[in-house]
Amino acid sequence: MRTNWAGNYTYQAPHLRQATTIAEAQEIVAAARKVRVLGSRHSFNGIADSEETQLSLAALNKVLAIDVANMRVEVEGGIRYGDLAPVLEEHGLALANLASLPHISVAGAVATATHGSGSDTGNLATAVVAMDIITASGEIARLSRDADGDTFAGAVVNLGALGAVARMTLEVEPTYEVRQDVYTGLSHDVLASDFDAIFGAAKSVSVFTDWRGATTQAVWLKQVVDAKSGQGTARAEFFGARAATKNQHPLPGGDATVCTPQLGVPGAWHERLPHFRMAFTPSNGAEIQAEYFLPRDTAARTIAAMRQHGDRLAPILMISELRTIAADNLWLSPAHRGPCLAMHFTFKRDWEAIQTVLPAIEATLSPLGAVPHWGKVTTMPPAAVMRAYGRLGDFRDLALAQDEPGKFRNSFVERFVFGEV
Ligand SMILES: Cc1cc2nc3c(=O)[nH]c(=O)nc-3n(C[C@H](O)[C@H](O)[C@H](O)COP(=O)(O)OP(=O)(O)OC[C@H]3O[C@@H](n4cnc5c(N)ncnc54)[C@H](O)[C@@H]3O)c2cc1C
Repeated sequence: MRTNWAGNYTYQAPHLRQATTIAEAQEIVAAARKVRVLGSRHSFNGIADSEETQLSLAALNKVLAIDVANMRVEVEGGIRYGDLAPVLEEHGLALANLASLPHISVAGAVATATHGSGSDTGNLATAVVAMDIITASGEIARLSRDADGDTFAGAVVNLGALGAVARMTLEVEPTYEVRQDVYTGLSHDVLASDFDAIFGAAKSVSVFTDWRGATTQAVWLKQVVDAKSGQGTARAEFFGARAATKNQHPLPGGDATVCTPQLGVPGAWHERLPHFRMAFTPSNGAEIQAEYFLPRDTAARTIAAMRQHGDRLAPILMISELRTIAADNLWLSPAHRGPCLAMHFTFKRDWEAIQTVLPAIEATLSPLGAVPHWGKVTTMPPAAVMRAYGRLGDFRDLALAQDEPGKFRNSFVERFVFGEV
């Protein structure tokens, strides 16, 4: 029995093949009737499952080329952010953002529009400038932002439905240092009234709450440190919240040893932007996550509406996290509609109980324009999700053109892209 990282989903695919070269991956794809690439298994639903073959590219984890003149890095399709980031740092380079954990594969994160936080920063898929995709025949198709324009914008967040991404090229920037400061006791009222100022106060801001009571649990500010401009200074308080005096875990009672250093100690971007350190289990482990993306201008209404759910959520919620994401033009990115508020839930691993609570949360959030994270759980009907993506029909056409036999279509793609029951 093979499961995802959290152990809440058992893969049905009877075969798991490991490719050690791109040529081998091409052969496996060409020979398979149905195939899906399995990334680092961090999604919480069946998105990476297959009727027949799952293909792991985990051994293809190398940095292939660094082009400092054009600020680009080319990587293999199985690399994880935690493998890539130290290599970039050695070359004085950085990515614009990272998710809460470095353990996830780049291609898997990009395929689901995985994001960090930052009102001025796009999700991780916005860094992609080119992809080499192994298509159903086993041949490689190259797509790039420069050559393929709008089609490329359709292909980046691809839900694994266009083929196996064998190589990717990402935009990079000069390295930077970040300090991470945690503040406790921010009031829900101030969060709602000063949302833009709070989330605009640093490169990356996360607010953690259980939605109960007058105050949130914590605000994590990740500020770029720049001695010349004075960016990244200490504050004793932040919108009425007090600076924490010891390192914190996002989950109440969690061991902060697994977290990246806080208390304002400056460090390399990749050792501060994720909440969790590569050498440790991120988050809780036995958990299930859900997340919704809402238009950012609904923030005050969304926060007010969510507070009525605090008691309902209490028996199963470990923590909720709010982040922001800049708008982009990627067809299947939740931020294609405009800047987003991302509202995340880490639940205890109890799907029976979660299923009884999520519909009420979704009934509150749907009228505000919520769409779920592609890699997390939801009880929203696929038709409602599909309606939110204006370019979904174009993506269907792209998937049919790239994968005419439907080799890379699995049950998740059938339901959420093709609308099959
Ligand atoms: C503890 C934890 C923390 C998380 N934090 C965040 C967060 O901060 N922000 C956020 O947005 N999400 C977060 N997630 C969700 C996670 O980022 C996504 O589920 C992401 O897709 C996981 O990547 P993966 O490599 O594990 O991919 P998988 O779950 O293995 O696969 C996801 C999809 O990518 C496809 N895929 C993978 N590799 C390739 C490839 N080479 N070619 C083609 N398709 C491919 C798969 O077929 C599948 O469709 C978190 C998850 C966990 C468990």
